[in-house]
Amino acid sequence: MQSGLLIDRRGRIARKLRISVTDRCNFACLFCMPDKKNIKFFRDEDLLTFEEIHRIVKIMTRLGITKVRITGGEPLLRKNVENLVKMVASTEGIESVDMTTNGWYLGEKAKVLKESGLRGVTVSLHSLKRERFRKISGIDALDKVISGISKARDVGLSPLKINTVAIKGYNEDEIPMLVEFAMEMNASLRFIEFMPLDGLGIWSQDMVMTGQEILEKIRQNYRISQVGRAKGETSSLWSVEGRGTIGLITPISEPFCDDCDRLRLTSDGKLLSCLFDVEYHDVRSMLRQGKDEREIARFIVSSVWKKPDGIAYMPWVKNGWERPRSMNAIGG
Ligand code: SAM
Ligand code: SF4
Repeated sequence: MQSGLLIDRRGRIARKLRISVTDRCNFACLFCMPDKKNIKFFRDEDLLTFEEIHRIVKIMTRLGITKVRITGGEPLLRKNVENLVKMVASTEGIESVDMTTNGWYLGEKAKVLKESGLRGVTVSLHSLKRERFRKISGIDALDKVISGISKARDVGLSPLKINTVAIKGYNEDEIPMLVEFAMEMNASLRFIEFMPLDGLGIWSQDMVMTGQEILEKIRQNYRISQVGRAKGETSSLWSVEGRGTIGLITPISEPFCDDCDRLRLTSDGKLLSCLFDVEYHDVRSMLRQGKDEREIARFIVSSVWKKPDGIAYMPWVKNGWERPRSMNAIGG
């Protein structure tokens, strides 16, 4: 098979794959899955096994995927996830494996993850105030997450990033503090605009701190200069007084769909070519029906071809979308 075959109708070529390994989480972030009692989670037998994920990764690597990010739900809830990291990281053609995590188990897992071949880690942190952290993420875990970040840095997981969803009325006053904290930790902070992917449907345009509004807050305390957005990257980067970089991820105010090079694999084995797509491509059924590699590859190629144009071209997403799912089930 040749690489570069994961091309869609608009000519975008996929190089990155985000793999969700579970839809479950020990947190309950208000913008993701606050109402856990009413979520129907996948059954264990619905989840792809590590061997199944590895098979898909091998096929997709031959089609051009080079970078993998493991996510969830909370990926560190998946038992022995480091074994999957090892399998994926040693796959021919894979250049890097990173992970996005809420940080709860990072203190105990960082070392084994590093030894298993994980390159970098992105830890989500939405407040530095204990009570507010609890209010946003549904758990009293600020100290534990901070020590998880320190541990990740100490074992050399790199790049080390912090993700903050900036929400009006919740944490916009902490933006400069978070910038300072990240620089002290030698981490690169990413502010993400709140997207309408929350399970409860609390999203409204009024709650979104746009990239520009975030920059204004940062400028009140720091001199910043634009670095720019590399092709295919979600973050537009800024240098903060030469001491560190921050990134803005602006799917709402300035979407970056035109050069998107990402695909997603849900924990129950569906390929999703866009966060805002409504068509799931069932790769798991093909595996479990015993289809051979060529048939699965053809299916993946034709699924990617149908990738939607993106949120930039889907005004309904921003105007009262009916939220077919929440972020934990997609794999953020
Ligand atoms: N549990 C892990 C974590 O929180 O980092 C990984 C999964 S989480 C779904 C991936 C990323 O999506 C996190 O950084 C999280 O803050 C972000 N996220 C979740 N819901 C979001 C939303 N509605 N809008 C923007 N970002 C969101
Ligand atoms: Fe869990 Fe991450 Fe969703 Fe928060 S954002 S509820 S930590 S999956």
